[in-house]
Amino acid sequence: MLIVLQKKNDQTLITHIQELLQRKYDADSHIIGQNKRVIAVPGDTMNIDVELLRSLEGVLSVDRVHRPYKLASRQQKDRTTIRLHDACTIGNREQCVVIAGPCSVESEGQLDETAAYVHEQGVNILRGGAFKPRTGPYAFNGLGEKGLQMLRKTADKYGMSVDTEAMSVEQMDLVEEYADIIQIGARNMQNYDLLRRAGKAAKPVLLKRGLSSTLEEWLLAAEYILHEGNPNVILCERGIRTFEQEVRFTLCLGSIPALRELTHLPIIVDPSHSAGKARWVDDCAKAAIAVGADGVIIETHPRPEEALSDGPQSLTEEQFADCQKQMRVIATAMGKKLV
Ligand code: PEP
Ligand code: MN
Repeated sequence: MLIVLQKKNDQTLITHIQELLQRKYDADSHIIGQNKRVIAVPGDTMNIDVELLRSLEGVLSVDRVHRPYKLASRQQKDRTTIRLHDACTIGNREQCVVIAGPCSVESEGQLDETAAYVHEQGVNILRGGAFKPRTGPYAFNGLGEKGLQMLRKTADKYGMSVDTEAMSVEQMDLVEEYADIIQIGARNMQNYDLLRRAGKAAKPVLLKRGLSSTLEEWLLAAEYILHEGNPNVILCERGIRTFEQEVRFTLCLGSIPALRELTHLPIIVDPSHSAGKARWVDDCAKAAIAVGADGVIIETHPRPEEALSDGPQSLTEEQFADCQKQMRVIATAMGKKLV
């Protein structure tokens, strides 16, 4: 960490900062340069409060040499690969993984119908919410454990894996029992107790980007999970809130190449929640694959107009088949197999 002072030779401030660093953080520091304006703090400075140092009068700037996350950093390794199913591994450069299914599990019939056609179209991972984060309390909020049971039964019937959301620490045991991938939703990206619990789970975690989170905040959220001992975190870009009103969320595709530099974790894209309209999903999905995403997660429903959540953005069977066809072309161009 480098602390730059406004004035040269400000011995009183230098002593104050060095003593503070020593007392509060047990951190050694050194003055560098002839003007005595720069204090260097070597080693691990993760626990030092940068804002506190910046707030001191006479301090011009404080910069970390390293990012505030360690385990999620690309400096650890080049790539994490996670085997999600016999047929698909995420993050391996050779495959582009599709996770598909309804927003919510509504009934056995609805789920079976959806699983049948997505499986026939080559999808190995079934998504579906049993616990649903809804903006208002009166909307359908999921079938709970019954929904989890339906997911497991249906996925097993077709030889698929299950991705489903856990909204709270209390739901985690149950979700962990039924799911192959535990989803943490955008609204819970900074629920630190939930992240810590997910870090103790034996299943991979799909961590969605918070509605207005920076890449650094997102990677720090991933760091919580990694820090508790779960190395299998998948990042999911699902769009962020901006001034734009026409699309549901602004899909931040630039985050994919940026994340590649910052982290070794696999990255997937959710074109459904960002587009908000079914007819825009295929184009966004293709763009995601073209920009190097390791996979996509897509909502589809046999009768979107009857869906209990996110109908407008859910693809019909026909639209989904067409989307798969288009995505396969782009995946092939990227040297990957769509699985
Ligand atoms: C979902 O996947 O159905 C969902 C609620 O997503 P998000 O957390 O990204 O809004
Ligand atoms: Mn949804």
